[in-house]
Amino acid sequence: STPVRDRLRIAIQKSGRLAEPARALLASCGLSWRESRDRLFCYGESLPVDLLLVRDDDIPGLIADGVCDLGVVGRNVLLEQGGGRVGNGAAPAFREWRALGFGGCRLALAVPDAWDWQGPEQLTGKRIATSYPALLSQWLAGQGIAAEVVLLSGSVEIAPRLGQAEAICDLVSSGATLTANQLKPVMTLLESEAVLAGPVETLDAARGELAELLLRRLDGALRIRHSKLLLFQASRRVLPDLLPLLPDAEAPTVMQLDGADDLALQALCHGAVTWQRLEDLKRAGARGLMVLPVEGMLA
Ligand code: ATP
Ligand code: MG
Repeated sequence: STPVRDRLRIAIQKSGRLAEPARALLASCGLSWRESRDRLFCYGESLPVDLLLVRDDDIPGLIADGVCDLGVVGRNVLLEQGGGRVGNGAAPAFREWRALGFGGCRLALAVPDAWDWQGPEQLTGKRIATSYPALLSQWLAGQGIAAEVVLLSGSVEIAPRLGQAEAICDLVSSGATLTANQLKPVMTLLESEAVLAGPVETLDAARGELAELLLRRLDGALRIRHSKLLLFQASRRVLPDLLPLLPDAEAPTVMQLDGADDLALQALCHGAVTWQRLEDLKRAGARGLMVLPVEGMLA
C-alpha cells in the first residue's frame, strides 16, 4: 500500500494556455513555492501544497491514480477523459470542483464554408475529424446520427482539405483558425473553461482539511477577481438615485457625517466599475468618488 501523504499535491499545465493563469490564481490564494531545478515539482513553502507541472492531458489520469489530489485543467479535457473512462466501463474517478473563469473556449462542430448548413442530419454518413472522440460520439448518439469519428491528435482543422474528413469537431476561441481553413462553426457541443478538478469522493484527513482551506480561499479569490471597493459621499436625498447605479454591489456601509445630511458610503461592487459608471454616479450626486482594489475577502 502507498504511504499516507499529508501534503496536498496539485497538477497544473507545465507550459501552455493554462500554465500562468493557474499559477497566478493559486498564488492569489496565498500559496508560494520553492522552484525545483527540473521545474516539474514545486515544493510548497507557505502551506504544505506542492505543484506538479505536467501536460494537461495527463492531469485527469494523475487524479484518478491518486498521484495528485487536485488539478487545473480545461473542462474539455476533463469531460473527454471522463467520457472515455465511462465508455470503457471504468468508474468516474474525477469531477469538476470549481469553474475558474479563464481559458474560455468552446468545442464546436465546423463544416466547409461552401456547405449550406441545414442541421445535424447533414452529418449522416460523413467523416468528422476530432481530438475529442468521446464528446463527439456522445453528442452524435444524442442527436441519433450515424457518422464516422476520425481520431486525430493535432492539426484537425486541415483534415477536410487533406481529404481525411468532411467536417471537424475542435476547440474554437476566436474562430480565426477555422476561417483560415475555409471552415465555419455550425454547432457548439461544449462551453469550456479552466476548472479545478478533484476526485469524486472528498479527500480525507490532512489533505482534506488543506483542500477545504484552499477551496475557501479560492472562492474568495474568484468572487473578488473583478471587484472594487467604492468610497464616496452624497447627501441622503440622492441615495434612491445613486444606489441602483452601483454595479452588482453588496449592501453599502453608510456613515453619518457631522452636522448636515451628508453621508459617507462604502460599497463592495462585483460588477465592472467603469469610467462611464463613475461619471453617471457623479452626475447623480456622488462626491469624492474613490475606487480601491480588493486584495482579499473571506466570507
Ligand atoms: P500540453 O502541452 O499541456 O498538452 P496543449 O497544447 O494540449 O498543451 P493548450 O493549447 O495550452 O494545450 O490548451 C490548454 C487548454 O486551453 C485547452 O484544453 C482548452 O481548455 C483551453 N483553450 C482556450 N482557448 C483555446 C483555443 N483557442 N484552442 C485550444 N485550447 C484552448
Ligand atoms: Mg495537451
